[in-house]
Amino acid sequence: MFRLLLLALTSTLLIGSLWAQRTPIDTSLHLDWEAYDPPSTLVVPEHPLTRASLPFIDVHSHHWRMAEQDLDKLIREMDSLNMGIIVNLSGRGGPALKAMMDNVNAAGYQHRIVCFTNIELRSIDEADWLENTLAQLTYDVSIGARGLKIYKSQGMTNVDKNGDRIRINDPRLDPVWARCGELGIPVLIHAADPKSFWAPQDENNERWLELKLHPGRRRTADDPAPWETIIAESHDVFRKHPETTFINAHLGWYPNDLEKLGEILDELPNLNVEIGAVISELGRQPRMANRFFEKYQDRVLFGKDSYNPGEYATYFRVLETDDEYFPYYKRYHAFWRMYGLDLPAEILRKLYYKNALRIIPGLDASLFE
Ligand SMILES: [Zn+2]
Repeated sequence: MFRLLLLALTSTLLIGSLWAQRTPIDTSLHLDWEAYDPPSTLVVPEHPLTRASLPFIDVHSHHWRMAEQDLDKLIREMDSLNMGIIVNLSGRGGPALKAMMDNVNAAGYQHRIVCFTNIELRSIDEADWLENTLAQLTYDVSIGARGLKIYKSQGMTNVDKNGDRIRINDPRLDPVWARCGELGIPVLIHAADPKSFWAPQDENNERWLELKLHPGRRRTADDPAPWETIIAESHDVFRKHPETTFINAHLGWYPNDLEKLGEILDELPNLNVEIGAVISELGRQPRMANRFFEKYQDRVLFGKDSYNPGEYATYFRVLETDDEYFPYYKRYHAFWRMYGLDLPAEILRKLYYKNALRIIPGLDASLFE
C-alpha cells in the first residue's frame, strides 16, 4: 500500500514537472514585449536618493486648485524633498490668480510658493483682446505673478474665428511678449510634444507604449501641423523678442539631440531650457549630457512637470549619483535604464537654484545660502 502511494506520488510529481517544463518553452517563443521586464541581475553600487543634496527650485509644476488646497501638506512634501521653492505654472490670471495668491499669502508661504500666470488666446479676434490681455498681465504681476506660462494647446489646438490654428508666432501676440520683457518676467513656453508622437505607431517608435496607453497623444504627420513647424514657430518668437527672457519647457523637445539643442541655445542668448519630464533622456546618455551641462550650465533650470513627490527620487539619482543601469518609473517614457550624471557641485547648484534665482524675479535667495 505504501509503495503504491509512493508510486502515485512520484508520477504526480513527474507529471507536475513535465507541466512545469512546458510553460516556459511556450513563453520563450512568444513573450509579450510589454510583460518582458526582468529584474536586473547586475550587481553595482547603488545610491538611491529620496532627497536632493542641495535645496532646489522646481520651475515647472501644476497646482490648479491652489486657491483651496492644503498648502501645509505641500510644504511638508517640499521639505522632505529639500525643495526650497515650487513654481505653479497654472496661475490662470485675474481673479483666479488673486484667489491663489490670497491662499498662499494667508498661509505665509509666499517665499516658498510662487505662481506664473496664463493668458487666453481663443478670443484673439475680439477688438479689445490685446488691451485686456496687457492689462491683465500688468495686474497679475502687481499681485505677485513671476512669469507667464504658455501651454502647448495654445500653439497647437487653439483656433481663431476663421478656424485657423493660432500659431505661437502670430504677430498679434508680439505686444504680449514685449510686455513681458518690460515687466521683467520670463515666459515659459511648452511647444509641441515628443517628436515620436508624430511618427507612425509601429515597432520603430520609441513611444509606442505611450501612444497605446494614451491614444489621444497620437498625431498624424501634419495634425495639427508638422512637428518641425510648431517647434520653428516657437523659435521664431524667441528670435523676434531678444529683450524678453524665455524658458523652453522639456529641453525644447530636443532632449534626445543635445547637440542640436546646443545650436539653438547658441543662436538665442535670451533662451533657457528646463528638464521637466525628460530625465529619462538624460539618463540614457550620461557622457553627452555631462558635456551639455558643462557648456550650457547657465541656461538649464530644474523642472519636473507633473507633481508626484515619489518621482523626484529618479531625478536626484540621475543628476547627482554615478549609479549605473537603474530603473526609471514610467516604462512608457523609457523602456531603457538610467545612468547617473554625477554632475559637478557648481553645475548642480546652477541647475537646482542659481539659474532660477537669476531668471525669475523676486525669489527668496536666502533659502539657498
Ligand atoms: Zn507642464
